[in-house]
Amino acid sequence: MNIPQLAIVIPCYNEELCIESTAKRLLTLLDELIDKGKISNSSYLYLIDDGSVDKTWEIIEGLHNFDNRVKALKFVRNFGNQKALLAGLEGVRELGCDCAVSIDADLQQDENAIEKFVEEFMNGADIVSGIRNDRKTDSFFKKWTALMFYKTMNILGAKIPPNHSDYRLVSKKALDIMNLYPEKALFLRGFFNESGLKTAYVNFDVKPRFAGESKFNFMSLTTLALNGITSYSVVPLRFVAVLGFFMALFGFLVGVETVFEKIFLHNSPNGIATTIILLCVFGGIQLFCLGIIGEYVGQVYREVKARPRYLKDKELR
Ligand code: UDP
Ligand code: MG
Repeated sequence: MNIPQLAIVIPCYNEELCIESTAKRLLTLLDELIDKGKISNSSYLYLIDDGSVDKTWEIIEGLHNFDNRVKALKFVRNFGNQKALLAGLEGVRELGCDCAVSIDADLQQDENAIEKFVEEFMNGADIVSGIRNDRKTDSFFKKWTALMFYKTMNILGAKIPPNHSDYRLVSKKALDIMNLYPEKALFLRGFFNESGLKTAYVNFDVKPRFAGESKFNFMSLTTLALNGITSYSVVPLRFVAVLGFFMALFGFLVGVETVFEKIFLHNSPNGIATTIILLCVFGGIQLFCLGIIGEYVGQVYREVKARPRYLKDKELR
């Protein structure tokens, strides 16, 4: 293949403190890679403003006027990081590129790994996944919830490597395949992992956020995790069925035992406390299971409505 055209996709939500120095650093990186002959000089950045309410968009406009290689898209409101990423990948597919790298606006992921990403791409990989060396910069809570999430996903059958992130390179071919998936809530980590395309892994270091605060909170992380599970596994639904079966079996056996005692031993068991406890336990389990089923019904509900994944406000090309 000739020298590839690289597009760098950067989702930004209220990143006024980061975006300028990040864009400038990445432009310098593009220049360095162009000088080394690794990427073509038509390579560019694609910033997605995910409905920021601060000065992010004004700064992006300034950057675009400063250097036309900074292209951008603005959402009408906040749609969340996954939708911004998706819009970015769809956008660069439309604008044209041979490969696209997604990276966070705070440059927590070591941007120098992009060179290795491109090398792996040139060696034939369609997906190059960034794997973090450690989670030193994450809070104790985030570290453990993330670990539990990947463990759960693996148990449920969606094999996503732990310490995986949305820092990755995807080829034009991978973008074309992604385009065939009509799912509204496409879980990118799951999709790229199960697509079967040739994948390479590159380790990278995570740095602390250099300005501003994390844009994720407990709720958005929970939503991301639940979407990941319900998009890529039906094991929880089977778990509900199996649990129901064993509960029924247990009830049946206790019933047989009670009748046996009544007929042959003439003692009817008493114990109002036991009854209340069982009622609460089984009632709780039933509600829990209904909740699991509800998550899937919700997923179906959202997909069936087929609302647009995101709404564009402005674009800078
Ligand atoms: N982000 C976004 N929309 C959101 C939340 C976050 O586009 O609703 C972007 C954010 O600007 C950043 C990336 O997603 O570029 C990762 O967010 P952040 O660094 O806050 O997450 P963390 O590193 O703490 O996981
Ligand atoms: Mg970050």
